[in-house]
Amino acid sequence: MSPQPTPRPFPLADADLCVKCGLCLPHCPTYGQSQNEADSPRGRIMLMQGLATGRIVPSSTLERHLDGCLGCRACERVCPATVPYGALIDAGRALLAEQRPARLQQSRWISAVLSRRPLRRVLAALLRVYGATGLQALIRRFRLLGHGPLVRLESTLPTLTRPARSKLPVIDAPRGTVAIFSGCVGDIADPDLSADLAALLADCGFTASTPATQTCCSAIDQHAGDPLRAARLASRNLEAFGDGSTPILSLATGCAATLADYPRLVDNGQPFAQRLRDPIAFLLEHSERLRFKPTPLRVAIHEPCTQKNVIRQGEALRRLLARVPELEIVELDASGRCCGAAGTHFVSHPAEADALLQPKLAAAATLAPDVIVSANIGCALHLAGGLRRAGGLSLEVLHPLRLLARCRA
Ligand code: SF4
Ligand code: SF4
Repeated sequence: MSPQPTPRPFPLADADLCVKCGLCLPHCPTYGQSQNEADSPRGRIMLMQGLATGRIVPSSTLERHLDGCLGCRACERVCPATVPYGALIDAGRALLAEQRPARLQQSRWISAVLSRRPLRRVLAALLRVYGATGLQALIRRFRLLGHGPLVRLESTLPTLTRPARSKLPVIDAPRGTVAIFSGCVGDIADPDLSADLAALLADCGFTASTPATQTCCSAIDQHAGDPLRAARLASRNLEAFGDGSTPILSLATGCAATLADYPRLVDNGQPFAQRLRDPIAFLLEHSERLRFKPTPLRVAIHEPCTQKNVIRQGEALRRLLARVPELEIVELDASGRCCGAAGTHFVSHPAEADALLQPKLAAAATLAPDVIVSANIGCALHLAGGLRRAGGLSLEVLHPLRLLARCRA
């Protein structure tokens, strides 16, 4: 049995690295929205310092400012003092949760469902019934849910009509093997993606597996401020992927960013984190045997914050897509600002999330792409939901691996 994780104190020394220069403020989407210092990285760091030293007591106002953070880490990317803001905001919410444990009820409930494979299968089966019977199409066509929060939530649901392609290709004399981290939401909402990646990997000469006992990456618990539950999930993934040096490719950039943080969560997380590879960068690196057919599509790239600010492998995607003949590539929003999905933010803060989505929807209307690609499942669902609600914009939002798999020669 894995050792039980122990609570870690708030990293005050990391917070004290902030010199309050304010260079991060113009890059912060929530500060851009409210122009309130308490909604900026600098302000939130000061609030967390106050909380950690007892100078500030928890209050609903404090919770609102800390919970309003998207965790996009745009501030971290531009900070000259290399303040690890992502780790700080997680630790700050954990401090809040120590004093207000009830705030973890919702995340624990969501995580309890998503981290259990049988429950994910039930959810996926329900979604398939909903999609395959035509009920979903009927509800959307005749707007049977009205205009309340339910219709907003429903509009983000994917349309599933058949079980996932569970068989991954097996190739003779592979040049190597890799393990795929599929992610809990991706397992339900985009269940064929492992097969898509495995097909591309097979073209490159690699055999892929998806360890059956893998679970949620722990992002839900980690970002809610529940590091002990997050560490337990991390330990389960360490066991599922075992020791050794097999590269681990995460389908969603949101999961990849959390998996890369395992050394911060669990004592033995470093070897696991060292095996992580971005799937598209991996394909590009081994792409000499990859062949694509001419695909005359205009593709708009939406770069998730976790890709842009944490993993930083977005260039690999552009280079790989450029290998597809006749594919035209455009940027959905060159500002690179967060789309508002941000984990569960688009559900908990719908008005703010929709405001952040607006520039992306406007860009989609202007650029008129055939397809939008996004390597994070949350962004893809949020974008697709926004396009549906806007009406008339019925373009597909795909994971870039799905598009690349469709373009295989
Ligand atoms: S987080 Fe970094 S960029 Fe922002 S105020 Fe502090 S030191 Fe400056
Ligand atoms: S993570 Fe994003 S939303 Fe949060 S303070 Fe930094 S820039 Fe602002």
